[in-house]
Amino acid sequence: INYRHCCNKLLSLLNAPTPTKPMWAQPETDPASAARQWRRKVVVIMGPTGCGKSRLSIDLATRFFPSEIINSDKMQVYSGLDITTNKIPMRDRLGIPHHLLGQVDPSCHRELSPSEFRSAADSKISDIVSRRKIPLVVGGSNSFIYAFAANRFDPESDVFRESKPDPICPELRYDCCFLWVDVSTPVLNQYLDKRVDDMLDSGMFNELEDYFANSDSLRESDSVTRTGLRKAIGVPEFEPYFRTFGRRTTDASPEEDPVRRGLYDEAVRAIKDNTCQLAERQVGKILRLRNSGWDLRRLDATEAFTATMVVRGSDSAGGAPSDVWERQVVEPSVKIVKRFLEE
Ligand code: ATP
Repeated sequence: INYRHCCNKLLSLLNAPTPTKPMWAQPETDPASAARQWRRKVVVIMGPTGCGKSRLSIDLATRFFPSEIINSDKMQVYSGLDITTNKIPMRDRLGIPHHLLGQVDPSCHRELSPSEFRSAADSKISDIVSRRKIPLVVGGSNSFIYAFAANRFDPESDVFRESKPDPICPELRYDCCFLWVDVSTPVLNQYLDKRVDDMLDSGMFNELEDYFANSDSLRESDSVTRTGLRKAIGVPEFEPYFRTFGRRTTDASPEEDPVRRGLYDEAVRAIKDNTCQLAERQVGKILRLRNSGWDLRRLDATEAFTATMVVRGSDSAGGAPSDVWERQVVEPSVKIVKRFLEE
């Protein structure tokens, strides 16, 4: 079974309502050599926080069956704080296997470095490809995406902070199809503001309350030494609140006490500001990759997000109403990925 044969097989499954016999179940005379022949094609979904990467990953993984998803968000690799870090809920994963998502124990207090991510993602990709599935790398941490995809990688240097000219390696170690979901800054900022309120409505405050009650985060709050999950937006911002009112705050809710209310509102304001700043930084890094020659295919999701703001009540992760999202983001992505797999 050669590579083109497998791609055609994949594409024939594209519109099939029920998957036929999966490729990995077919007889294989020499699995090792077949795995070697299968070029390492990887689809990468990137973009700022909140732009709908997870939603698009499921849209594509269910169309380009069989696929598996590798998370590339540096906060979502840790277990815990699922609402605060915006992990895709189990019910939205539709049975698609996810890797490096919630698997690192944050209590070991070490941070997963880009270089460790590079090795971990590489072995996941080899494993997924050897099982004749398509790997989708999905997440907003551009230092992780750079580490995993760049052909030359120096663990000691952060290319996004380097002052020397052209620190970004333009050559890649995989055959990558980069999909960049872009949303205009004012529209994304407005959406992110609302998303923080939605996260709080979904239990983010209680999740953080439990986190502070069960971790030693309050004892070691030095922002310079803060590592791993402790850097997740929401943790440093709520720290003054939980430091003032103790770990367990069951006696009064923020609404009942003006001092509590003040610190609570300050934390929420800071989360909203920091989330918007994170999105801006992430777009800056994406533009640097593109300007250094990485072939990023931009998908403008602005219209879909504008529609979300008009029609409240979204139907899944990413927030935009299905028809506009489908037309503006999914359909062009499907065309790009289809062509990429056929090449
Ligand atoms: P850097 O160069 O700062 O490492 P990066 O592109 O590697 O940037 P980002 O994903 O932009 O990594 O994350 C930077 C910071 O943004 C994190 O340290 C954390 O504070 C916050 N952050 C990122 N992702 C999340 C998330 N899913 N939930 C909460 N906070 C996040």
